[in-house]
Amino acid sequence: MRLGFDKMREMIARIAVTLLVVVAVVSSDSALTAQTARPADPIRYAVSFPAPQTHYMEVAATVPTRGRPDVELMMAVWTPGSYLVREYQRNVERVTASASGRPLRIEKSAKNRWRIVTGGAPSVTVSYGLYAHEMSVRTNWVDANYALINGASTFMTLADRVERPHEVTLNLPAAWARSMTGLRALSGEHHYVAPDFDTLVDSPILAGNLAVHEFMAGGKRHYLVNQGETPEFDAARALRDYEAIIREQRRFWGDLPYDKYLVLNVIGESRGGGLEHRNSTVLIAARGTTRSRNAYLAWLTTLTHEIFHAWNGKRLRPVELGPFDYEREAFTRGLWVVEGLSDYYGDLLALRAGVLTREEFLEGLSATIADVQATPGRFLQPVELASYDAWIRYYRPDENSPNVSISYYSKGQLVGFLLDARIQRATNGAKSLDDVMRAAYVKYSGARGFTADQFREVAEQVAGASLADFWNTHVKGTAELPYTDALGTFGLRFRTDAATSSRASLGVSTRNDSGRLVVTPVLRDDAAAAAGLTADDEILAINERRVTADSLNRRLDEYKPGDRISLLVARRGQLLRVELVLGSQPPTAWDLEVDPAATDTQRTRLAAWLRIPA
Ligand SMILES: [Zn+2]
Repeated sequence: MRLGFDKMREMIARIAVTLLVVVAVVSSDSALTAQTARPADPIRYAVSFPAPQTHYMEVAATVPTRGRPDVELMMAVWTPGSYLVREYQRNVERVTASASGRPLRIEKSAKNRWRIVTGGAPSVTVSYGLYAHEMSVRTNWVDANYALINGASTFMTLADRVERPHEVTLNLPAAWARSMTGLRALSGEHHYVAPDFDTLVDSPILAGNLAVHEFMAGGKRHYLVNQGETPEFDAARALRDYEAIIREQRRFWGDLPYDKYLVLNVIGESRGGGLEHRNSTVLIAARGTTRSRNAYLAWLTTLTHEIFHAWNGKRLRPVELGPFDYEREAFTRGLWVVEGLSDYYGDLLALRAGVLTREEFLEGLSATIADVQATPGRFLQPVELASYDAWIRYYRPDENSPNVSISYYSKGQLVGFLLDARIQRATNGAKSLDDVMRAAYVKYSGARGFTADQFREVAEQVAGASLADFWNTHVKGTAELPYTDALGTFGLRFRTDAATSSRASLGVSTRNDSGRLVVTPVLRDDAAAAAGLTADDEILAINERRVTADSLNRRLDEYKPGDRISLLVARRGQLLRVELVLGSQPPTAWDLEVDPAATDTQRTRLAAWLRIPA
């Protein structure tokens, strides 16, 4: 398998050399023209923090006009990697324009655009205050201690979108020592440049008193940049595991595609999250992350997922995901590849890197299967459409979402698992989904991305067989996913343990709302739905006795599955009774384990897939 890949890389390298020679000959004329043509002047931003405790940064953008009587600036309304129009311009205020200190007329020309009358000035400076108090991987945060700056939600640029450098100078408060970003540094403190707006958007900046750890791998420097590091966070261990993950990704892809890589890790109160970039990622981690195995596993698999994006998503991408129109949605059917397969490999490469055990890997896969199998929307929304409708469904969930939609992350991960097993079966273990990813990367990671059909074609070439049925049924269709074949490939099975199934269940999921027992989304197949319970109902009593979120399980233990009960429910201020037959709590039907009866062939294939001793 590795031999095949090395050969392919060798071939590509040879083709690339040939191309270079041809280009060199052809372009000797146009090189002259390029030298005489004036390169586009940069936009220069100065970002300062005169009162960071108020959560504001002040941005001054000096913009070339090329002598035009007016210029128009725009602000992105969304961030690549997060598919929702977020209207970042809503945080902009006090917009003024000037040239050589002389005020200029500036007016809003669209919800996210401003037009400036230049008066013939060669450059104009547009200044604005930006409120930065949303803690997420895609938004801005400024407080007395640090700033997280994301390009899309920060920088206005010329609406003409001519390719030009974008320079950023940060004027940090005296108490802040450092800034770190994937951008190239220029001379002078906190001075950076992006060759174009896309790179600026793709290069978040973290500034404050950062703890910076680093290592070299594959000749490239890798940074773990911790904001808010306390002794609670085991940075040495995180750095060690990060390095193991990088080495595994390099083994997988054959090379590291960037000059440097930064993990900008914001440690605080928030729960986790991550956003991918070409040479960095922003992670959000809770303080106790390395103290809880589950929290740390989530951090490690997110980290592996985001690093995998440096190839899958950022360089190898669906054709619709670049170049971006930052003012409009980019609809694509390919997010199950970008996100679902990054989830699949996020876990798999963490396992192969040795930072996850086999049992933990199988638990993660089991949890994803359980999640998909508990989502009735899997029968309505194909994973391709889940991707296409991310903007209006996945990123805008409501109580009915599980009934009508499926996550392209979780179903995408399972489609990846089934596809991998299928290719390994079809090729008798000679090829796998790994080869599909690498072949697709070689073919489509250049200027143009892949179409949905092209990705399928690469998979078919690797499998040496048509995958039309598989695609029609599981990518474009909504049939139940057939786990049996995949499990058989690797000698896995679902644990048959009915121990928990004797406990009675309301047949509805609930949340603890400050002690109140509140019904969460009611799934359309539930007995509770048939009985008439709906989301946000508060359950007050079972058979005339008070029940709370904390006492629910104790109360249910007094009953058996099949018992008829009466619930007292409060719905929008009105009390009512709901009659219900108790069901049984679902047995843990989706827990994977190695089949004790697995054959030698199955065990060998499992070991080869997971890269662990047979
Ligand atoms: Zn992702």
